[in-house]
Amino acid sequence: MSGTLGALSRLASTPPGTATVETVVAACAEIRRLFDADDAYVVRSGDPAFVRLGDDGDPAQYEIKQRGYWYAWREAAANPGEPNRLLTVTDRLVGDVVPLSAQVPATHIAAILPGDESNSEMLIVRGPWPDGLSEDQVELLGSVRPLMAYLIGNVLDSERRERLQGQMRVLGEIAEAFTQAEHADNPLSALATALSRASGFAWVVILVFDPGIERVIDRAINVGRHSNTETAERGKRGQESENSGERDLLGARHMAWTRQPYTVPDVGDPNEQLLVNDELRHFYEQAHILSMASFPVFTKDALYATITFCGSEQHAFDETEMGFLGSLVAQAGPTMRAFKLNRELRETDQRLRAVFTNAPVFITVFEPDGTIVLLEGADKGTIAQETASLVGSRIYDLVPGYFAEELRANLERGLAGDSFTADMQWDGRDFQTRFAPLRDHDGSATGVIGVTTDESERLRATRELQRMNIDLTAAMERAEASAREAEASRLRAEYLAQHDALTGVLSRRAWFEMAASRHPSAIAVFDVDRFKRVNDQYGHPAGDTVLKTVAESLGAAIGEDGVIGRLGGEEFGALFNVSVADAERACQRAVELVAARPCGLSEGRVVSVTISAGLAPCRRASDNTKDAVARAYDIADKALYEAKNTGRDRLVTAPAAA
Ligand code: GH3
Ligand code: MG
Ligand code: MG
Repeated sequence: MSGTLGALSRLASTPPGTATVETVVAACAEIRRLFDADDAYVVRSGDPAFVRLGDDGDPAQYEIKQRGYWYAWREAAANPGEPNRLLTVTDRLVGDVVPLSAQVPATHIAAILPGDESNSEMLIVRGPWPDGLSEDQVELLGSVRPLMAYLIGNVLDSERRERLQGQMRVLGEIAEAFTQAEHADNPLSALATALSRASGFAWVVILVFDPGIERVIDRAINVGRHSNTETAERGKRGQESENSGERDLLGARHMAWTRQPYTVPDVGDPNEQLLVNDELRHFYEQAHILSMASFPVFTKDALYATITFCGSEQHAFDETEMGFLGSLVAQAGPTMRAFKLNRELRETDQRLRAVFTNAPVFITVFEPDGTIVLLEGADKGTIAQETASLVGSRIYDLVPGYFAEELRANLERGLAGDSFTADMQWDGRDFQTRFAPLRDHDGSATGVIGVTTDESERLRATRELQRMNIDLTAAMERAEASAREAEASRLRAEYLAQHDALTGVLSRRAWFEMAASRHPSAIAVFDVDRFKRVNDQYGHPAGDTVLKTVAESLGAAIGEDGVIGRLGGEEFGALFNVSVADAERACQRAVELVAARPCGLSEGRVVSVTISAGLAPCRRASDNTKDAVARAYDIADKALYEAKNTGRDRLVTAPAAA
């Protein structure tokens, strides 16, 4: 791991609404850096083409074939406990896809980024890692994945929020459409969207059938992250495959007969023949649908519609879940009947009598004086609790003063012909109401309709997310601090590796490395004279002290003219960057200073030592510095040998021509 998560966490915590696809691209660049990877990017699925976010390139040219992305995605989605995978990609084809673990060779990592509408985005990091990832890198992905999921959620969910607001407008318009006997744009799709939100399933498909179940007369798909994909378009048109209409009819007839819902835990199961055939299987693969639960909706005794929840994971629907989905369908039932009724009675019934009753929404119709003429909805435990008993009462008599004033202002605004949205708090909960005028035949406003949604959960979730974000930032700061510590100890280790522990001058290796890279003008070697005697006479620790003192004297004598290293035992070297004449003077100073400066030992004892030195010029013209250094070192060593043989305590300088 070559860095900290700080930058990534800062990008990931870009506030919702501010984060864009560019933020995602920048975050990917950070990931590339963190993993020393060749590439990192996010592919957005929900479409046959896994489009690379922030990249206009042709998906057909991507580094992995589209089918390969699908394959990796399916493996991860089918194993929610292990959503990170290692891939081996050769010639754009995916070979092995295995759970992520350390030391397993691979070329790519794929990690599913969980979102609240689906599990479809995928982070791809390209190594390669011929020896596999380290434990640290595996752990790092554990932090990177939720950060990216959070960021992707922000970016894609801000699109979603806009759609939800659009959907709220649609709900308001439905209410108006009922009263004005006009067609609402797409009320079924609004219902499908509400069901998708409430159930957490990525796709919800509603099919409405004619009484003989010979035709689909209406169809709708929820508005979701993938609404604009080609797959969604085909689904909306009922063109999943050539004979998909037949499957729709077969499924509906089967459920009309059994009066039971029908589940498909794995659409890839070749034994599954009722709702899926081979052609449709292909479509579901593209739509990233791996499982389905389909529910019949009856009016009186006849099947009227089916509602199908499609999931992006293989999934055995258990009793509890079927119970939950069934209750959502039951709530949708009256809505569907309302649509049907409305279709039949549109011309005759002016007042909204049949009302949709989906979970967080309720509808109130007020007379001009605030009398409630209709209150429908299943917002259990809050305002609509005692629906029946409230109808006929004036709202102002039922609610506290401040609330009554607010309501009165809103109703008057509605009566004046305005359609608008207002936020109100009631009983510790947050409501959003879309008010619209109810009009008579002649177009004058005779009442006000309010479509109210309980936003408390959404706001609570937003607050919770912000809190989590703060926790996350704190955790990231801690991680950064420990990364800083690691960096400091790395620097310490590096210093220790380059320096001699006893004397503090460069180590042999670092000195020779420096010699090879610095083109020295001359090289000197020094050796303490008769050092064995010091050891023998005063002991090894005293010998150490002498070595330290000698190193200090060398440093003092040579100063900025050269760099000193300990080459072994009691032998030192100096690299010079000054003229050979200046180097010679420096070496002479060193020999004299060592001899003149006694070494203080323990208990007041002192010992004096001398050194011998050999100096050789180093030819700068040579192309190969390393060879030139090796030659000069050799010559300096011979000069040192000569100094030893001619009486010690002296410098011998090799002639320049050597
Ligand atoms: P000369 O170089 O003048 O010929 O004589 P010398 O006595 O210095 O000979 P030689 O180079 O053979 O001996 C070096 C001694 O230095 C041998 C070894 O015990 C001692 N020595 C090497 N490294 C250390 C060290 O780190 N600390 C101490 N105290 N002694 C060391
Ligand atoms: Mg020696
Ligand atoms: Mg010696």
